Amino acid sequence: MKKNERCYICGAPDALSYFEGRSETISVKGMERRVDNLSGWECEVCGDGFWDPDTDSADRYGEAGDELVLAARKMIGTEMKRIRRKLHLTQKETVQLLSGGGHNAFSRYERGEVLPPKALMLLMRLLDRYPHLLADTKVLGEGADLRGAFTYTVNNKPETLKAS
Ligand SMILES: [Zn+2]
Repeated sequence: MKKNERCYICGAPDALSYFEGRSETISVKGMERRVDNLSGWECEVCGDGFWDPDTDSADRYGEAGDELVLAARKMIGTEMKRIRRKLHLTQKETVQLLSGGGHNAFSRYERGEVLPPKALMLLMRLLDRYPHLLADTKVLGEGADLRGAFTYTVNNKPETLKAS
């Protein structure tokens, strides 16, 4: 048993104590990863702490968290794909209609490479619940995106003042 030390985070004397053999479960969106045999220091006063750098606790805990992030992105990607197919839209149409941006943005969302913006997820879920709103979405989306809405004309003639 290592003896308590002053907490270097909050300064409380003898508050930093060592723990080992701890098991923690990280969860997100109903998915869980259990990490066993963790050791480190934690403060009884401020609750802060750190993993024992002489063990692989930090690495294993970090890996479990990364795995969960990937799994959660994949789950959301699968959901986006399911809704898009239900609405009979291609990835390109979905981007043009709902989000704008690069043409392969949606395939990256569906593959779980990138988390879609919250507003886009919300729109997709709304259309999942109320698919008849897709027609309204198409109408309301007209002119909502200024990108591509500009036209450019070269004026060869100098502008003449109109005499009135
Ligand atoms: Zn502390």
